[in-house]
Amino acid sequence: MEEEEEQEAARQREAEEMQTLALLASEQKERQLALDAQDFSCGLCLADDLKLDQMITLSCEPVGHRFCTECFQGYCKSKISEAQVSTSSLHCPSLGCKTPITIHEMKAHLSEEDFEKYERFTLRKVK
Ligand SMILES: [Zn+2]
Ligand SMILES: [Zn+2]
Repeated sequence: MEEEEEQEAARQREAEEMQTLALLASEQKERQLALDAQDFSCGLCLADDLKLDQMITLSCEPVGHRFCTECFQGYCKSKISEAQVSTSSLHCPSLGCKTPITIHEMKAHLSEEDFEKYERFTLRKVK
């Protein structure tokens, strides 16, 4: 009998957690919609009528710096072609910001060719 009660309590906790998650998700969605409607400017080319889906947001603190996809790719590409792939040289291109660009960000936004080049350089550095 006790076991059943415990199970019931666990089920209830789970249901409450799900509700909280759903609430958070809908809040996030609303915030996302507001963001989608907004214009953003690129930290590199200074175009100021960009929508979020044309941009890349880096994980800088407290606010992620944003760049248009083209600028970000061009920036990474030139760094990679100069073999500057350590986290201290391949960082957010915003002035004074030293947040390293993560391998996940690179993989998600670079062309396959550029990313492979990047991987080759980083592997070579580790050895
Ligand atoms: Zn740009
Ligand atoms: Zn930054």
